[in-house]
Amino acid sequence: MAATITREQILEALRGVKDPELGRDLLELGMIKGVEINGSDVVLHVELTTPACPLKGQIERDITAALKTRVPEVNGIQIHFTAQVRSGMAGRQGEIPGVKNAIAVGSGKGGVGKSTVAAALALALKEHGAAVGLLDADIYGPSIPVMLGVSGQPAVTEDQMIQPLEAGGIRVMSMGFLLPKNEAVIWRGPMLHGAIQQFLHRVRWGELDYLVIDLPPTTGDVPLSLAQLIPLTGAVVVCTPQDVALADAIRAITAFRKLRIPVLGLVENMSYFKCPHCGERTEIFGTGGARLLAEQQGIPFLGGIPIDVSLRELSDQGRIAEVFSSDHPAREPLLEISRQLAAQISVEAAKHARLPKLEIIQ
Ligand code: ADP
Repeated sequence: MAATITREQILEALRGVKDPELGRDLLELGMIKGVEINGSDVVLHVELTTPACPLKGQIERDITAALKTRVPEVNGIQIHFTAQVRSGMAGRQGEIPGVKNAIAVGSGKGGVGKSTVAAALALALKEHGAAVGLLDADIYGPSIPVMLGVSGQPAVTEDQMIQPLEAGGIRVMSMGFLLPKNEAVIWRGPMLHGAIQQFLHRVRWGELDYLVIDLPPTTGDVPLSLAQLIPLTGAVVVCTPQDVALADAIRAITAFRKLRIPVLGLVENMSYFKCPHCGERTEIFGTGGARLLAEQQGIPFLGGIPIDVSLRELSDQGRIAEVFSSDHPAREPLLEISRQLAAQISVEAAKHARLPKLEIIQ
């Protein structure tokens, strides 16, 4: 008769299996949530730190290999994955209630597609199953409402909290909702600070895994205000492949570093052109510059997004969410970039998050 497999044997076999990104034992990180043993078959319940985990396949392979070699009696292995995003904000000064991670999207100059990337990444994270909010802090030229085709006055609750609007399955707040149409805004330092403060602490976001913040295209006042007002998990820098844009990206990276905001990675927008007829890929502005820059700066290169006429058209028509409901050429690159970003957020959040109690449910 075959020997009975015990829970202790399985847990012992899992010792040393690490989360590849966090570099720590799955057990120690509290990611093994349950072990079921039915004869020689084992079912494991594993809780990832993001539903957008790019390394799920590798974790599955590592667990399987460890169990097969260390407990040869095991026959079938099933792994059920769930996800619980860890908070990089909870317990820190200036935290936004219910929001686990705030991520700023910035660029060294305007026109590189920062707002497009911010909106698209928020939608991509939602596509993976995360609860996402998008804050348009580009108060000089709020373009998020146009891209998402959302307008209207947000409701204000009895306790004077602003309710974000909903679009494409994410919660959205923009100064554009509060300003009369076509009204130019001239913000001065203290007013700006006040507006950002209202935005951050008077919006009832509810429970969010990720709050993506679209910054104005400068390295000036707004990041400074944000850094002072909320504990950002980190920032993403958007650039295009031209040399001048790369120089601007370095300025943005340096500015975030000065504010002690971790740079989660670099996204190269308008990276290449994919011919809609023959599928051929052309690097219009050269290739490899952003990846090299990221390497030199010691930050992750999160990926590139193609230049695509229909992306601009969908944005202009308030239909950017349709990128994800079709086989749009930007869909896969955006989903992959959002996975890489989510992994970096998990790494940063792990530095702040309290680890869950090591509690394994039988
Ligand atoms: P920023 O926020 O950096 O000023 P925007 O996101 O407003 O830039 O983008 C500037 C313009 O470029 C917009 O018209 C937008 O639709 C277009 N755009 C951005 N990214 C792409 C892309 N990958 N392909 C085609 N057009 C793009």
